[in-house]
Amino acid sequence: MPVTRSDSCQSGVHGPVVVACGRSDRVVVVNFKELTAASGPLVLADLSGYTSFLRDVAEAHPDAFAGGAVPNAYGLISSLLDGIIRHLAPPFTLSKIEGDAVFVFAEDADVVPRGSDLLECLHACYADFQQTLGEARAATLCTCGVCSRDTLDLKFVLHAGPFVLQPIGGGRELSGPEVVMAHRLLKSDAAALTGNRAYALTSDAAVARFRIPTDLAVPLVESFEHYPPITVHVFPL
Ligand SMILES: [Zn+2]
Repeated sequence: MPVTRSDSCQSGVHGPVVVACGRSDRVVVVNFKELTAASGPLVLADLSGYTSFLRDVAEAHPDAFAGGAVPNAYGLISSLLDGIIRHLAPPFTLSKIEGDAVFVFAEDADVVPRGSDLLECLHACYADFQQTLGEARAATLCTCGVCSRDTLDLKFVLHAGPFVLQPIGGGRELSGPEVVMAHRLLKSDAAALTGNRAYALTSDAAVARFRIPTDLAVPLVESFEHYPPITVHVFPL
């Protein structure tokens, strides 16, 4: 039996495309109907020092997992990520937690503050992060050199552009080259350039879209494979 498919185009407004292959019993249904195109802000809030913190805590307390126990450091991380989400969503929508990062977005860019108010939103989130970090550390962590070491910090990436919301595995996944770019920007040289692990990095696209003043930012051009060079603006926090 030959491969068959519908006459659907790529506009995303048509129904499922059924592709049947005669070499097996497999029938593949490609569902374009539930795809949603949007264009808006993409924000990542990323914990710096997360991996080394948890590794160092485990090394400092080799019996921390004994008998099914969970080291307090994990509770601290939960509190920090919870606080970030509370601060950003709303006005943003939570996409997901990606280990040490919170990924939020907005389908309707009008719900997001403009200009310096948007920067202030990130500043406020950072201030809350620092307060939670100090309070939780004092309340729950031991005072050994590792647990009390100042290794955790927070940085933000703010990008903007078109993306697609795809229903995958019962959730909604954001896809598209600008989503990939937002994640690539987490690997920027901003920390080395500014000498500050805590910063908000905004892409040129986000600056233009949300009319963000850049007088206090450090400009930087980043290059990533498969993309043209991208200009970003780094605000130390
Ligand atoms: Zn300790």
